[in-house]
Amino acid sequence: NNPLLAGRAADLRDVGNKVMALLCGVKAAEEPQEPYILVMEDVVPSVVARLDQQKVAGILTAAGGASSHSAIVARALGIAAVVGAGEAVLSLPEGSTLLINGEDGAFYLNPAQSRIDEAMQQRALMQEQRKLAEAHCMEAAVTTDGHRVEVAANLGKVADAAGAVQRGAEAVGLLRTELVFMSHASAPDEAQQEKDYRVVFEAMGSRPVVVRTLDVGGDKPLPYLPLPKEDNPFLGERGLRMTLRRPQLLRQQLSALLKAADGRPLRIMFPMVGRLEEWHAAKAILDDALAETPCPNLQVGIMVEVPSVALIAEHLAKEVDFFSIGTNDLTQYVLAIDRGHPILSAEADGLHPSILQLISQTVTAAHRHGKWVGVCGELAADSKAVPILLGLGVDELSVSAGSIPLVKAQVRRLNTPECKELAAEALTCATAAEVRSLSSRNG
Ligand code: PEP
Ligand code: MG
Repeated sequence: NNPLLAGRAADLRDVGNKVMALLCGVKAAEEPQEPYILVMEDVVPSVVARLDQQKVAGILTAAGGASSHSAIVARALGIAAVVGAGEAVLSLPEGSTLLINGEDGAFYLNPAQSRIDEAMQQRALMQEQRKLAEAHCMEAAVTTDGHRVEVAANLGKVADAAGAVQRGAEAVGLLRTELVFMSHASAPDEAQQEKDYRVVFEAMGSRPVVVRTLDVGGDKPLPYLPLPKEDNPFLGERGLRMTLRRPQLLRQQLSALLKAADGRPLRIMFPMVGRLEEWHAAKAILDDALAETPCPNLQVGIMVEVPSVALIAEHLAKEVDFFSIGTNDLTQYVLAIDRGHPILSAEADGLHPSILQLISQTVTAAHRHGKWVGVCGELAADSKAVPILLGLGVDELSVSAGSIPLVKAQVRRLNTPECKELAAEALTCATAAEVRSLSSRNG
C-alpha cells in the first residue's frame, strides 16, 4: 500500500530487465536525446502513462486497435499514435526516419523530403487549428443552425477533472471507475471511494458527472479482484455481470457515489448491460442504496455496448433516464472482433453501417420517450464520425479532454439538415470504408 515502495517496484523491474538483457546479450535500446517515435509490439496503459510526452513524438505498434486501451491512453496524453500496423514494423531499423499519420493510420519509412515537408506543413496547420479551437474551448458547441450538442470529458483519473474543465468540458460523460480503482494498490473502501469521487464533483461544480460503475474483466483486470480464468473473457463475467455477482461491491460503490454527489448532478450508468433483467437487478441495488442515502439530482442510465440492448432499446427507453453508447465495445461485439486483437482489431471500424443502424435505433427509441443519448466510445472524437453522429440525433459527445476543443470547433462548422442527410446516406452504405469516404466528400 505504500506508494513510495510501489514506485520502487517499477525501478526494480527496470533493473531486472537490464540484467536480463545483459545475460541474454540483447542490446537494450537507449532512449534517444531528441524526440523519437517509439515502435513496439503493443503498449499497455502503464507503459504509455510513464512515457515522457516531451520526448515521445509518436507511437507505432504492431498490435492493438484504435479503440484498444493503449490507444485510448495515448490519445489522452496527446501523443500521435498508429496502432495495429502489423508485425513488420518490429523489424524497422533503429534510428531510421519515420513519418506517422495518427489521423489516417499511415506510416512511411525513410520518406522523401517532399513528403516530410508536406507533413510538416500539415502539422503546422493542425497546430494552428488546435490553437484556434483552444482559444474558443469554453464556448458552447452550437451548429450553424442553432442546435446545441453537449461535449463532455472521458476521465480515468479523478485528478484530471479540473484540467478537463479548463479544456471546455461541459460535463463528465464517462468516469471509468475501474481506472480509479486501479490507482490504488488494494481495493478502496467506501470512504476512500467517496473521497476520490468528491475530487471530480468539486472540480465540475454544477456540471453533470456521468459515472460508470466498475467495468472490470475483459481487457481490464483488477489485480486485487481475481476473476476465474475464462476461455472468452470478453464474453464472460465482466462489467455489470461481475458486480451483480458481487452485490456488496456494487452497493458499496453506489453508496460512495450518492454520498460524494452531495446534491450535485450525478448520473450513474451501468456497463455491459445485455438484458432487461440485468438492468432491473442493478436498479434494485441502487434503490436500496437510495433508501439510505437519497440523491435529489440523479439520473440513471445504461451503456449501450452489447448489441442486444440496442435492439430492445424501445423497452429500456421507457425505464432508463439516458443511454450512453460505448462504441468501442459495441463495435467489438457487432463485428465479432476482439478490440485488442493483434491482427484483426484494425478492421473493427465503428463507422461500419451495422453499428450506425444500432445507434440510430437507440436514438429513435430514446427520443420517443424523451430520453437523451450520448456516445462515449472513441468514435465520438473521430472527425469523420462527428457529423454522422449528429445527423443520427446523438445529444452528447464524450471524448478525451484533449479532443474537446477540436470536437466543439467541428460542431460549430456543421449544420443539422446536412448532417441528417449525410447520416441517412451512411445508413445505406455497405462498408465502413464507404461511410468514411462519404464523410470525407461531405466534410
Ligand atoms: C466503450 O466500450 O466504448 C467504452 C466507452 O468503454 P470502455 O472503452 O472503457 O470499455
Ligand atoms: Mg466498454
